[in-house]
Amino acid sequence: MLTVIALGGNAITPRGSSGSPREQWDSVRVAARALADIVEEGSKLVVTHGNGPQVGYLMEAFDSLPSIMPRQTLDLAVAMTQGWLGFLIAHAIEEELARRGLRKRAVVIPTRVLVSLEDPEFSNPSKYIGRYYGEEEARRVSRELGWVMRRDPRGGFRRVVPSPRPLKILEVDVIRALVDQGYVVVAAGGGGIPVAMVNGSLKPVEAVVDKDLASSVLAVDLEASSLVVLTDVPGIAIGYGRPEEIWLRKVKVEDLKRYYEKGEFPPGSMGPKVLAVINFVEKTGRTAHIGLLEEALDVVRGLKGTVIEP
Ligand code: ADP
Ligand code: MG
Repeated sequence: MLTVIALGGNAITPRGSSGSPREQWDSVRVAARALADIVEEGSKLVVTHGNGPQVGYLMEAFDSLPSIMPRQTLDLAVAMTQGWLGFLIAHAIEEELARRGLRKRAVVIPTRVLVSLEDPEFSNPSKYIGRYYGEEEARRVSRELGWVMRRDPRGGFRRVVPSPRPLKILEVDVIRALVDQGYVVVAAGGGGIPVAMVNGSLKPVEAVVDKDLASSVLAVDLEASSLVVLTDVPGIAIGYGRPEEIWLRKVKVEDLKRYYEKGEFPPGSMGPKVLAVINFVEKTGRTAHIGLLEEALDVVRGLKGTVIEP
């Protein structure tokens, strides 16, 4: 049995957390306990994770460096977050497993994800990243750095980058080999470092791939037994946040597609998770799960959260 677990941003920086190293360790240790439960049940484990707050933090940090220091690109920032968060997660899992008397190692794989420059997102980028700028300043950074700046509905101007569809995880064979040797593998962090084929060779591109969609592609290619998306809500709701709200316990993939088409799931949050589970269930004929990080084991067992069935 091989379980692919996609960890939400709340696993490391819950809403309201300052993001200090101390708080990161506290949060990741909670996540590690949940993941260790699954390993203890006997499943092989591949863990993916988001990086929204951390990549935003790095881009802002680059932005505030003295001007004699070169700015780093977004692909490098994503790579940095894979090392940063991958280390936190892998170290915390090993520690938790050791506490339970299990001598199992965890490894982090810097992971690239193939995207196409033909993706419509490259002509019409949609993903806001980093800090908010005033109009004047936005014009200046756009001129100096070539960034695409757009007015954020939440106020101010922000950089927008393409969020293309993931086509393939380039390290999938390495990940499979390590899983087969018994390692817990942390991979595809932040949706992977986007690369595209340009004149016959792979080039990094400044884009952000959704981590849930990338996890789904990885889970399909690894022929995982299940894809489990752990987040800060107890599953998928219909009528979310409205009086008629209903939490789904079990849903057939074709019913979930209908709800998706009705616009039940917003693009920046539950939308990509729903597309991710639909893709996995349709391609593999196996089940997927969405639920609370704190209830991970019960979510994997199908006792809690939402079970998406073929
Ligand atoms: P993560 O960091 O785990 O990717 P997101 O914030 O991207 O978390 O997505 C989870 C959020 O999706 C929940 O906190 C919830 O507010 C929101 N959400 C939007 N629509 C729904 C829905 N229909 N059912 C459940 N949650 C939803
Ligand atoms: Mg998300």
